[in-house]
Amino acid sequence: MTGPRVGVLALQGDFREHLAVLTGLGADAVPVRRERELDQVAGLVIPGGESTVMDKLSRTFGLAAPLRERIDAGMPVYGTCAGLIMLADRITDGLGDQRTIGGLDVTVRRNAFGNQNDSFEADLDVTGLDGPVHAVFIRAPVVEQVGPAAEAIATVPDGRVVAVRQGGLLGTSFHPEITGETRFHRMLLDLL
Ligand code: GLN
Repeated sequence: MTGPRVGVLALQGDFREHLAVLTGLGADAVPVRRERELDQVAGLVIPGGESTVMDKLSRTFGLAAPLRERIDAGMPVYGTCAGLIMLADRITDGLGDQRTIGGLDVTVRRNAFGNQNDSFEADLDVTGLDGPVHAVFIRAPVVEQVGPAAEAIATVPDGRVVAVRQGGLLGTSFHPEITGETRFHRMLLDLL
């Protein structure tokens, strides 16, 4: 028996890794590129990649508006890195006319860790998870402001917020899908 059907937005980025994690957890995981595919999933992962490109493609493919409707209707969604940017209600340094899907009451800054620290790793405590998460950051965004509807669930040692939750929406600046970390995907599946 397979679990609930969950989608991974597959317009761009490392969607294959997320499909593999979800399949490994027993979910019926499918790529989502079209509105009719979105209609058939109970939850969604928005992967890492490049948010400016994902934004353009989501509008070109006619997915941006239906995705926002599903989020407003309560569909659980997990966004990693560029996916977190896509879920943020506000971005401080979007490129050109970059827009987001929104849903998470947060302000996110893209590429916030600067050139020296484009990529780095850290062990983090995450609210709701037992034991540390080994987090890999790749040109990662940071959550600059957490609005009243959202909750910070992890910070890096200097106090900057890198994981947030708001009801069925979950966002991380880092990439659990590349380290064998499955607990965030489990959290999403538990919400379906
Ligand atoms: N810097 C990318 C962006 O702005 C995100 C990087 C990532 O997803 N690993 O979309």
